[in-house]
Amino acid sequence: MQKSSCSHKTSTMNKIYTLGKSIFAYLKRYGNNRPPLMFTCETESCNHRVMHKHGRYFRMAVTKHHHTKIPAYRWRCCICTTTLTLLPDFLVPGKHFVTFVREASVKRKAQGEGFERVAKGVVSPSAGGISPRTIKRWWNDHIHQASEVAHFIAGELIKSGVEEDLLCSHSHGVNPTRVDTVHWLARLIPRYVQVLGQCPSFRMGSFGFLNTQLFPHLRI
Ligand SMILES: [Zn+2]
Repeated sequence: MQKSSCSHKTSTMNKIYTLGKSIFAYLKRYGNNRPPLMFTCETESCNHRVMHKHGRYFRMAVTKHHHTKIPAYRWRCCICTTTLTLLPDFLVPGKHFVTFVREASVKRKAQGEGFERVAKGVVSPSAGGISPRTIKRWWNDHIHQASEVAHFIAGELIKSGVEEDLLCSHSHGVNPTRVDTVHWLARLIPRYVQVLGQCPSFRMGSFGFLNTQLFPHLRI
């Protein structure tokens, strides 16, 4: 018997948008109201069908001092049943800790702090603390990803007309280590943010803003 079109596996996708300058601003605006946005399905055969509102779920956003429950809104395609979840730029899928806590962790590690010290510095005991092993995992993820993200950003900068030799600024081109690449990425990000004419809030860091621009597999 032929399967109906409803029986194929539902796929899910996530989009990350800037939806306020802070968690508080997001909650104030969207705590009870869906962002007034429209999405179309990206499945080719759905021909840009407008997606329908599809409820919301609550998830945790953990900062240095607080655990905050925030709503994440969903949309759904009635043809292929793909669902889309919209996340604010301080979160990425699958992680409770907000992006600016992860950013602060990798920055401190890149500056030479040990995992234990970083863990004590970025999440307070009142918020439940964080294991140095988690910091180590974030750091390893970051050093594995840094090269691809840095090359993407360098490419975007070159496309936008930045003329200085961005590749030569990578550890002066001499046998760069993965940590050199992390530093190179850290130098490229402010240029990219500037070129896009954006000004992410200082307290929210820049990884969150970056995640609104990056392909899902490059999000940091
Ligand atoms: Zn669809």
